[in-house]
Amino acid sequence: MRWNALERRLKGELLTPGSAGYDETRRPEMARYDAVRPAVVVRCATDADVAVTLAAARETGLPLAVRGGGHDFAGHSSTTGILLDTRPMATASVEDGRLVVGAGARLADAYDALAPHGRTIPAGCGPTVGLAGHALGGGMGILGRRHGLALDRLRAATVVLADGRVVDCDERREPDLFWALRGAGTGNFGVVTRLVFDPVPAPEATSFHLTWGREHAAALVLAWQEWLDGAPREVAPSLMVTASANPADEPVTHLFGTLTGGAESVAGFVRSLPAPVTDTRVTLPYRETKAYLAENGPGDDHPGAHLYSRSEFIGRPLPADVVEALLAEFDDGRKQGEGRSLELLPSGGAYNDADPAATAFPHRTARYLLKHAADLDADLEPAESRKWLNRSWDLTRPWGTGGAYPGFPDPDLEDAPSAYYGANLARLRAVKAHYDPGGLFRFAQSVPLA
Ligand SMILES: Cc1cc2nc3c(=O)[nH]c(=O)nc-3n(C[C@H](O)[C@H](O)[C@H](O)COP(=O)(O)OP(=O)(O)OC[C@H]3O[C@@H](n4cnc5c(N)ncnc54)[C@H](O)[C@@H]3O)c2cc1C
Repeated sequence: MRWNALERRLKGELLTPGSAGYDETRRPEMARYDAVRPAVVVRCATDADVAVTLAAARETGLPLAVRGGGHDFAGHSSTTGILLDTRPMATASVEDGRLVVGAGARLADAYDALAPHGRTIPAGCGPTVGLAGHALGGGMGILGRRHGLALDRLRAATVVLADGRVVDCDERREPDLFWALRGAGTGNFGVVTRLVFDPVPAPEATSFHLTWGREHAAALVLAWQEWLDGAPREVAPSLMVTASANPADEPVTHLFGTLTGGAESVAGFVRSLPAPVTDTRVTLPYRETKAYLAENGPGDDHPGAHLYSRSEFIGRPLPADVVEALLAEFDDGRKQGEGRSLELLPSGGAYNDADPAATAFPHRTARYLLKHAADLDADLEPAESRKWLNRSWDLTRPWGTGGAYPGFPDPDLEDAPSAYYGANLARLRAVKAHYDPGGLFRFAQSVPLA
């Protein structure tokens, strides 16, 4: 391909190996995919830039990856072919009470635009996470039990399709595409260049983070599962067991999260538990809470580590013997340079208000999402850690829904489309056949063509 022919048609920028800025630009946020070097990075500034880049992908047959924030767990936004980088389209503004963002906007851009209006959207905390990639696959966060997923607040989107057409979609215009984008929108049907959200009030929030030693982990998991069922929607409590990359360190159990109401429920729960080793509670305005959580989340202390994870939505509480077995596995065979974590992220509440078929996101009956993760020094061979991950994940599968979170994609799933999309897969295949009949978007967690 003569890349300069493509470059002449761009408002944005084109970078090839050796050109200034290529190396910094090509790198994703996930260090595990650092070594993947694209033939070309196309920094798209407009819908027309996206369309000509897609034409180049069609003409060359090179693999294509679309990148926003670059946080994809499975490396779907890294490629040896054409990297379509949406970051130059990073606008975020409030128009007629709605949040309007470009494809390159990150969570922090959205929260910053909304904060002066006393508004926000329910979504995650990582400030550099791309809002498009986040919301098109779900978008879980501290207001989720109260207001649902980020995708539940999506009201319209603009999409550049495989053939270069630019379409606007919402409940009335191209409704099947709009339905499909909400849960299966990451790289299956087109490049989303503009998203419109209906925001919610931004409440003052209290963040809490309590820790215990490993000896209380099993009792805490069991108590947390029971309490979560009846916990108020205003409470977003996660439970996490972490082990640092130094095997001499004892694992730590964390109860952490945020409440925007229901303080007495959390206080009662904490009173029923053994005395914690540490107990931190911080009340701040909403925007400051988001910044605080981004800086103070547990388990973020292994810079440059390669992350491997498996997860599943849990439908029934894990019984005591399974929790014991899970925690026994957790400590087993951990080596220098290998951190591990088990993270229990609450679902329920408004996450489950929508019908499983109302959007392409089918996971509307789960109690929580259980993520098993290993973070490894970059030079560590991952085979043994991956065996632990598989054993840990297998242990809890009988209590899982069979569903995997599209926002935590897992390249090791045997039947990823069914795990991500469940009973919505048949309708998604029909939408795929209509909007991407040539299968241009086949390099990510694809909805397969029939
Ligand atoms: C540090 C960290 C914190 C996180 N916190 C949370 C959290 O609190 N809650 C939660 O639910 N998830 C969380 N996640 C998961 C995160 O939401 C997903 O990884 C999300 O897909 C990241 O989006 P991105 O744009 O940053 O990543 P990218 O890697 O750029 O994109 C992710 C996927 O979306 C596709 N994509 C990106 N932009 C577009 C577009 N414009 N059109 C079509 N497809 C597109 C990509 O091709 C890729 O398949 C977190 C991940 C990390 C690494």
